[in-house]
Order: sequence, then C-alpha cells, then structure tokens
Amino acid sequence: MTSRTAALVCGLLIFFCALSAFAQPPAPNQMPSVIQVPEAALATPNFDATAATNAYLAQIPADKMARSDAYFEGGYWMILWDFLYGVVVALLLLNLRCSARMRDLAERVTRFKPVHTFVYWLQYIVLTTVLFFPLTVYEDYFREHKYGLATQTFGPWMLDQIKNLGVDAVLLGLLAMLLFGVVRRLPRTWWIWGAAVTIMFMVFTVLIAPVYLVPIFNKVTPLNDPKLVDPILSMARANGIPAKNVYTIDASKQTTRMSANVSGFADTMRITLNDNLLRRGSPEEIQAVMGHEMGHYVMNHIYKSIMFFSIVIVLASAYLHGGVGWALTRWGEKWQIQGVGDTAVLPLVVLLVLIFGFVITPVMNTFSRTLEYEADMYGLNTSRQPDGFAQAAIHLGEYRKMSPGRIEEFIFFDHPSGRKRIYAAMRWKAENLKLFMPEQGSAAALGSIQGVDPSKK
Ligand SMILES: [Zn+2]
Repeated sequence: MTSRTAALVCGLLIFFCALSAFAQPPAPNQMPSVIQVPEAALATPNFDATAATNAYLAQIPADKMARSDAYFEGGYWMILWDFLYGVVVALLLLNLRCSARMRDLAERVTRFKPVHTFVYWLQYIVLTTVLFFPLTVYEDYFREHKYGLATQTFGPWMLDQIKNLGVDAVLLGLLAMLLFGVVRRLPRTWWIWGAAVTIMFMVFTVLIAPVYLVPIFNKVTPLNDPKLVDPILSMARANGIPAKNVYTIDASKQTTRMSANVSGFADTMRITLNDNLLRRGSPEEIQAVMGHEMGHYVMNHIYKSIMFFSIVIVLASAYLHGGVGWALTRWGEKWQIQGVGDTAVLPLVVLLVLIFGFVITPVMNTFSRTLEYEADMYGLNTSRQPDGFAQAAIHLGEYRKMSPGRIEEFIFFDHPSGRKRIYAAMRWKAENLKLFMPEQGSAAALGSIQGVDPSKK
C-alpha cells in the first residue's frame, strides 16, 4: 500500500467514525412480539387457511411492512452493485497490470513457490478489501443501522471486519496455496483435482466452523437455563438429538435479527438458537423454530448441502478450465500473465467465479428454499405449534419481505416467503383442527400431545 492510499484509508476511517458518533440510532423495525392469535385463525369448525393467513398478515403495521420490503428489495440491488463493482475491480487489477506487479513483488520475496502464492494472496486480499471498503461500510454498517437491524457502534464493527480479514487471509490463503500447487503439478487435469481439493476444503471448513470460527466473533454456550430450555431439550431428545448439541449464541452483539441454525459436520453438528430469539420469542414460537432446526438436523440437510455444493464446485471448475484458457489466449500477454499456474491469474478467476455465481443465484436460492420448506414441514409436525410458527414468520419479516411475487421469490428468496410459511402453518392447522378444539371431544388427545392432563385445567 502506498502512503497516499494509507492516508486515504485513514481519512475515510476518521470520516466514518465521526459520522457514526453523530448519527442518531434509528429505532429497530420490531414487529409486534406477542401476537394474539387473530380471530380468523382461531380453531373453529369453519376455519379457513387462507383467511387465517390474511388475518395474521393484517397484524403487521403498514409502516413496518413497507420498511421491511424496502430493506429486502434494496438487497436485490446490492447483489447487482456488488457484482458490477467486483467485475470492475477485477478488470482494473488485470488491465492496469496491478496483478502482474503483485506477482513480481511476491517472487522477489522468496524462491519457494507456495510462499509466492501466499504473499501474492496477502497483497490481493488487503488491496481488494480496501477497494471494497466503501461498499462494505455502506452495506454492512450504515444500511443495517438505517433499518434498525444493527446493534454495533463503529469501533466493534470495524474490529469484526479486521477479524474477518484475518480469517480470510489465513483460510483462503491456504486454499490458494493448495490450488496453485495442484495447477502447477497437473497442468492438464487440474480442474478435476482442483475441484476435489476445494470440496475437501469446504468439508473441513464446515467441520471446524462452529468450534473454531464462530467463537472468534461471538460467544457460544450450551443451553442450560432449565426454565427456558427444558421443553426445547425435551423436543430434541424426542427426535434423537442429544442435549449437548443444542447451543445459544450472543448474536445481539451485532444484530437485532432473530434466527437459529444448524451448523457443523459429524461430531461438530449442532443446533444454535440465537439470543434474540430466546429473549423475544414466545415459548410456542421458540418451539416452532426449534422444530424447524431439528428438521435440518434429522433430515441431514448439512450432508445434502455438501453434496449439492460439490456438484456446483465441479461444474464451476470445468467452466473455469474453459474460461481461463479462453481469456488467457486473448489477453494473457496484455495482462502479463504466463498461464493458469501464474498467481497473477487470480483476478481473472475471481471475475469468472463472480459471473458464475451471479448467473446461478436463483439455482442456489431455490436449492436452499426447498430444504427450508422441508424443514418447515418437519417443524410443524414436530412442534405442533402452527401459531408459534406464524409468529416466527412475522418476526423474520423484520428483515425479509413477507409477500413477494412468484418470480421474485424464485430468484431472490433462500427461504420461503413469510406469507408462504404462514399459509403452510395454517394449512397444517386446518388439517389438525381437532388438536386445538378440546370442546369437540378431543381433550384427551390434546392433553396427551402437549403433556398436560386436561382434567387438571
Ligand atoms: Zn432453516
């Protein structure tokens, strides 16, 4: 980095720090927390799933719906701007021969090839992080604050960014060394072996993430407050998930979002419920979300995702093999890149991956959305909390558009839309009405299902 760039970066930092000190924190876009089951969603003999869905959606105040729609739709544009910005940066690095110069510098440091790759990588990631910083700070900091989704002041946010840079520098640097090693040794079949190495690296990262990567940013603890967790752990045991695999994370450090996930692989596989969910969710809602996460766990969605991503990686690798060769015969000399084994080729690889990723966004989202819908079905069957489920869908509506169009949902949604999820819950309720209508002579059924003796009511 030249001293001019360093001065510019410092200037920008001071500017943003000053700005954040004066900025008034906007109110969080909190959806109503304890939602009464609306009249049309009460269990009555003329219960109608569509009417119940509409009644739930009608509980969201219009201004909150508009704010959440604006946030989510803005995200569509961010996909485009990120893509275009990434393309421009990659083309500049190639055409201004910055990449070739970084390679030359790396080669002056040592004669040892893997170290070349790593030194090149360090220069690349620092330079691109600086170039992307204005976009990152807008997208991850100001925009999140504007919509009341962020809880961090600038300093801690910046610290997280630096940690992120450190993790990427080490982990992806390792991957770059491995891949360039493969390309140099196997110049003709590198794309097959490169894909295999990338897949193994992905599995390794998934395996270590919950234990070694997540704790760099947040505190993860096993769930143990008995009052809160007894019903959760009971559900887990009933579904064959050991209690030691249920955790909570202090996500409120960064965000107001309520969420939960399944992470890890083999022995590190675990369910994590974030503290926003545990704090703001009703017991019914928490059980519904827990049921959903158990669906991911029991239906092995992690393994299915690894299979799916492996196929994507092989396809991407074949495409890179063709694309890199094609581009280098045309512009290799101009860019001063000697071949696919030359580290200076990296911006070209990133450019091609950006295009690939941009084009297959709907495919990736549809894969994820399909698994999420499966987990929804499992969660409804397990938790038997359709109303808790509807409440959760409304809470998630703080950062996800509730009622998108069909094509919009197909392209942009990695989870089913809120409306779809509430409808699925109400449809389930319609088919299981007897569970909610004890006066219809099913009191015994209700009691046995919820673990209470109806006679003691
Ligand atoms: Zn899920």
